[in-house]
Amino acid sequence: MTLQPFPREIRIVDLAAQYRRYQLEIDAAIRDVLATAAFIQGPQVASFEQALRNHTGAAAVVSCGNGTDALQIAMMALGLKPGDEVIVPVNTYVATAEVLALLRITPVFADVDPARFLLDERRLHSYITPKTRAIVPVHLYGQCADMESILDIAARHNLFVIEDTAQALGAVYTFSDGRQQMAGTMGTLGTTSFFPTKSLGCYGDGGAIFTNNALYAEKMRMIANHGQRIKYHHELVGINSRLDTLQAAILQVKLQYLPEEIQKRNAVAAFYDSQLCTTSEIQLPARSDRSTHVFHQYTIQTKHRDALKAHLVARGIPAALYYPLLLHQQKAYRAYSSDTFPVAGHIQAHMLSLPIHPEMQEDELMFICSEIKTFLAGLRQAGSV
Ligand SMILES: *Cc1c(COP(=O)(O)O)cnc(C)c1O
Repeated sequence: MTLQPFPREIRIVDLAAQYRRYQLEIDAAIRDVLATAAFIQGPQVASFEQALRNHTGAAAVVSCGNGTDALQIAMMALGLKPGDEVIVPVNTYVATAEVLALLRITPVFADVDPARFLLDERRLHSYITPKTRAIVPVHLYGQCADMESILDIAARHNLFVIEDTAQALGAVYTFSDGRQQMAGTMGTLGTTSFFPTKSLGCYGDGGAIFTNNALYAEKMRMIANHGQRIKYHHELVGINSRLDTLQAAILQVKLQYLPEEIQKRNAVAAFYDSQLCTTSEIQLPARSDRSTHVFHQYTIQTKHRDALKAHLVARGIPAALYYPLLLHQQKAYRAYSSDTFPVAGHIQAHMLSLPIHPEMQEDELMFICSEIKTFLAGLRQAGSV
């Protein structure tokens, strides 16, 4: 029997289709920037920051060149020094640890919780030493870590909290008193990325930092722009990390559609749930009862991961690992830890992210789910389940 391929390419994200949807507005926004030629710090940068303040409820938004710089600017603004320790989850994108290493701050890798793959607040105490200065919860895959407990532990130990919100912009966290806050606005500082594949993506690189502290906002604005408040007067050692006017104009158009896109991602996740919940070999992504989910990734767990991934990829379905190595396994970061991370290690061997984006069609989703079921039926027949 020859298997029929799916008639279209199945993509991890479909940025071209997304552009077509907003094309008129985005083209107009780009033409405005081109006509005025204010490519650096044009008026669209400030108006996008204002729109993002309104959207998130953060008192201040400082835009910058990308999500990695956002983390670096945050660490610099907090005055962290070489030898200080900062706790980061062991399963995150490298940027979270990279900026620490660059600044000669010591990243301390922490294990995560087995259901949601997020910093495990019950284990945090064991990583705190007299040198610890900050905790970086990463809202991985699109939902918030347990911020109430993390903020509480941080307050007791006098630590900064920097939320890495690159994957969860738009997620809402509910505190036990019913208060709701958006991802990135709960910690001392929050950072995000507008990399094209993120929930709010531009057409190049971009990033931002959120804070409710006016002094940090001022300092971060200076750091992102060569440490100057007045042109050519450099009060601080800074970097060159500004959000392009063109990207700001594009982002301002796309920000209006963020809630709708998050809804569409949730609809895709609900579809996967409904199709895969009957299969005992598949563990569905766990939802936090405190946080909404923006589904940057839809990540299942299965003990047949490698074989399932190979089957899906062979059928043209881009199933992927985020990330194939934990930080302490990365060559550049091995020296930072000799710990073992049993929970993250287990997840690492079982996780698999399925395609999820707002443009996904029901026939694509049906095809992916039926391929997963075909694969599992094959295993059952072979007696390996
Ligand atoms: C994407 C990402 C970053 C870095 O953002 P860039 O804009 O690519 O520099 C940082 N942390 C996490 C968790 C990310 O997913």
